[in-house]
Amino acid sequence: MNRLVVVGNGMVGHHFVIQFMQNLKAQKNAADWQVTVIGEEHYPAYDRVHLSEYFDNDADHLALTSAEEYDQLGIHFIMGDAVTGINRKTQQVTTASGQSFNYDKLVLGTGSYPFVPPVPGHEQEHCFVYRTLDDLDAIRNSAQGAKTGVVIGGGLLGLEAANALKQLGLEAHVIEFAPRLMPVQVDEDGGELLKRLIEETDVQVHTGYATTLIEAGESSRYRMTFKDHDPLETDMVVFSAGIRPRDQLARECGLDVHERGGVIINDQCQTSDENIYAIGEVALWQNKIYGLVAPGYRMAETAASDIFSIEANFTGADMSTKLKLLGIDVGSIGDAHAQTEGAEIYQYYDGTKKTYRKMVVSADGKKLLGAVLVGDNSYYDTLLQYSLNAIELPAEPQSLILPSTDSAPALGADMLPDTATICSCLNVTKGDVIAAVDNGCCTAADVSDCTGAGSGCGGCAQLLKDTVNAELAKRGVEVNNHLCEHFSYSREELTHIILTKQIKTYAQLLAEHGQGLGCEICKPTVGGILAATWNEHVLNEEHVSLQDTNDTFLANMQKDGTYSVVPRIAGGEITPDALIKIGEVAKEFKLYTKITGGQRIDLFGAQLHQLPLIWQQLVDAGFETGQAYGKSVRTVKSCVGSTWCRYGVQDSVGMAIHIEDRYKGIRAPHKVKFAVSGCTRECAEAQSKDFGVIATENGWNLYVCGNGGMKPRHADLFATDLDDDTLIKYIDRIFMFYIRTGERLQRTARWLENLEGGLDYLKSVVIDDHLGINADLEVQMERLLNTFQCEWATTLRDEEKLKRFRTFVNAADSDDNIVFVQERGQIRPARTDEKEQLIAVSNAG
Ligand SMILES: Cc1cc2nc3c(=O)[nH]c(=O)nc-3n(C[C@H](O)[C@H](O)[C@H](O)COP(=O)(O)OP(=O)(O)OC[C@H]3O[C@@H](n4cnc5c(N)ncnc54)[C@H](O)[C@@H]3O)c2cc1C
Ligand code: SF4
Ligand code: SF4
Repeated sequence: MNRLVVVGNGMVGHHFVIQFMQNLKAQKNAADWQVTVIGEEHYPAYDRVHLSEYFDNDADHLALTSAEEYDQLGIHFIMGDAVTGINRKTQQVTTASGQSFNYDKLVLGTGSYPFVPPVPGHEQEHCFVYRTLDDLDAIRNSAQGAKTGVVIGGGLLGLEAANALKQLGLEAHVIEFAPRLMPVQVDEDGGELLKRLIEETDVQVHTGYATTLIEAGESSRYRMTFKDHDPLETDMVVFSAGIRPRDQLARECGLDVHERGGVIINDQCQTSDENIYAIGEVALWQNKIYGLVAPGYRMAETAASDIFSIEANFTGADMSTKLKLLGIDVGSIGDAHAQTEGAEIYQYYDGTKKTYRKMVVSADGKKLLGAVLVGDNSYYDTLLQYSLNAIELPAEPQSLILPSTDSAPALGADMLPDTATICSCLNVTKGDVIAAVDNGCCTAADVSDCTGAGSGCGGCAQLLKDTVNAELAKRGVEVNNHLCEHFSYSREELTHIILTKQIKTYAQLLAEHGQGLGCEICKPTVGGILAATWNEHVLNEEHVSLQDTNDTFLANMQKDGTYSVVPRIAGGEITPDALIKIGEVAKEFKLYTKITGGQRIDLFGAQLHQLPLIWQQLVDAGFETGQAYGKSVRTVKSCVGSTWCRYGVQDSVGMAIHIEDRYKGIRAPHKVKFAVSGCTRECAEAQSKDFGVIATENGWNLYVCGNGGMKPRHADLFATDLDDDTLIKYIDRIFMFYIRTGERLQRTARWLENLEGGLDYLKSVVIDDHLGINADLEVQMERLLNTFQCEWATTLRDEEKLKRFRTFVNAADSDDNIVFVQERGQIRPARTDEKEQLIAVSNAG
């Protein structure tokens, strides 16, 4: 049995483990391996790249694995214990808790630690670094009762930390020793614009500042003093002044370590001891430490192959970065500082749009060596492909950064060579995508499942989709999003036609824009679009044949053929009298009652002919339909909020009722759920809803496009600290934009995932009115709000509509096939065996 020990369970260590296990599985006749993974943190590997999201979510949201997964893979996994020594002679590691493990192969994935400059006073309470979940817990605790926070370091991580302090409600400052921000990635002009843009977000930037002392403050916890500048008072200091490799173990056991840090590795990621590998941020390859995750993954793959003698070489990695910092696009590609001899520069600056673009071009003008983007990253993907694949530039290279067209000049997927990297996080090339399509993948999602492309930072989603579609098209597979054979339009296009041509019926739409007789796909879809546009009653003669069974009977059909009745209980708030009424109705009609996940009461077991009788009583008592049967707004769940809860900061119930009353009845591509929590403890689980609203001291945070269901998705934070009016305005616009552009049966979660440009694009449409359609969206929403009707109340007033609720065409009799038995004091449908027994007993009698 061979023994492998992996020290460190960070992003790269974990990637190594997965690669190793895959290789092990793929190797025929491979020797047995006993794998031990030792991680010092109290969590299994998590996504450090998205660390800041921990402020809005729990740790599970970032988890890359779990102890259970390692267990299932047969890995011995130790968390919360650090390796303290390596004995290379006996091939043994020992841990802080006194355990020891022998190894045949050892992998060091110990990462790096944040460098804290030795400024006097740096070791005090409320001075932090920004690297681990524990660091963020400490920062969050310290922010309570604090007003001001300072980040020392204006690089990529420093700006991210400053954003976090701002989100925690602190006045945030960034102190940078260099004369500009992000000096590694951005040049002087870009840095100047970046500083201006960041200051517009209310983060104060101080460049060219050298901190000399952190001492007790007068108005805040601390006072920071600087060389040649006035002092600054702050309650918290976060150091983000670069990283240093955690190479102490390697140093102590005599491995070759560079004098400035980093365990020296060869192209196979082996250290000076061939049985010990180093990967990720602890490793130094050709005098270079890579502070990004993608190169670490490449090292992990190389080491995981080399152990099985599969040929692999680490050949360096591209350090290009595409970021959004404090909402500002920043991109940096290759030789951003034009250090290559003879390099030429093209620059473009737009003061009104606040964007800056620079290209660094080879002396012969043929190759793109590097680029810097500030304020607009839409040019990034194309420039990156030119640079990575050494594609020859056009005769006028500057055309690539000049705004001569509406959108950035795109380099079509077709023009890329097969070696072009599509997903740099997972190292998936165009060739890999082509192979996946050849093996039967038909969508970008299939290719992503098969190759991993797009599952890292997600920046390549559009390019991946374009590449897959281009490949499918080449194979004669028609890539279209037509609704069905009867309409050569997508749902979005049909919505547009219905709206602009004022089409009110399916028959008219089919006659003017479709062909054939229609089918079970286009009928309910068009029925839904018509309802979401004109809000006419779904049982009107011209619409009723379009509806699904549930809509046809304004109730959900259950497995035994009975129906359920769900009155609306806005925000989950209900009076005792209303509760009693529901109880009385349930008793009279012998219905099974159950409280639903959406905080209302479901009454089961109603026969078709009973539905109007039941609803008459409920409508008379003031209830409205809860529309549990429609692809429409369902519930707005809420916690008790500030009215009752001692943590609550806003009236969550009041807001939930307001939202539910506003949007009730609106139909959409799929069901839509809301929730409102009265504080960040989030008892209403708003982040798993299509629209989640969470109270803050200053208003409301709006989350969008979450859902539970078969493929859960955590909602994304759309905007923070909104007042009531802005909150509603944003929901109006997003909701209506979804109604217009969503695909058939597409929940908001999948809609956002498929929306080109994702959350940022949605923000630009809704907040900045990028498409100039907000006024339109609001008018359309207003029309729906003004035409609300309770579908059951209207039905009860209309004899024609009521005829539909007869079990048998000619009579209002009940259906004898429906048999109930008693369970836990209520009825439930009889099972087949129970029905047979009951019939046998009655025949015998
Ligand atoms: C806020 C933030 C944002 C970032 N954003 C980006 C980004 O946008 N793009 C990008 O590419 N990169 C980004 N990075 C960098 C990226 O996270 C790192 O490159 C990556 O995590 C490195 O992985 P690693 O496994 O080498 O090290 P780490 O993730 O640091 O993991 C090392 C692990 O080893 C453990 N360990 C150390 N010593 C021992 C020991 N003796 N015994 C046991 N365990 C030990 C550590 O506790 C740690 O858990 C970001 C980093 C941060 C902090
Ligand atoms: S979310 Fe906050 S306000 Fe609402 S019940 Fe929970 S703790 Fe109370
Ligand atoms: S989870 Fe499944 S069984 Fe339960 S209500 Fe939903 S569809 Fe029915």
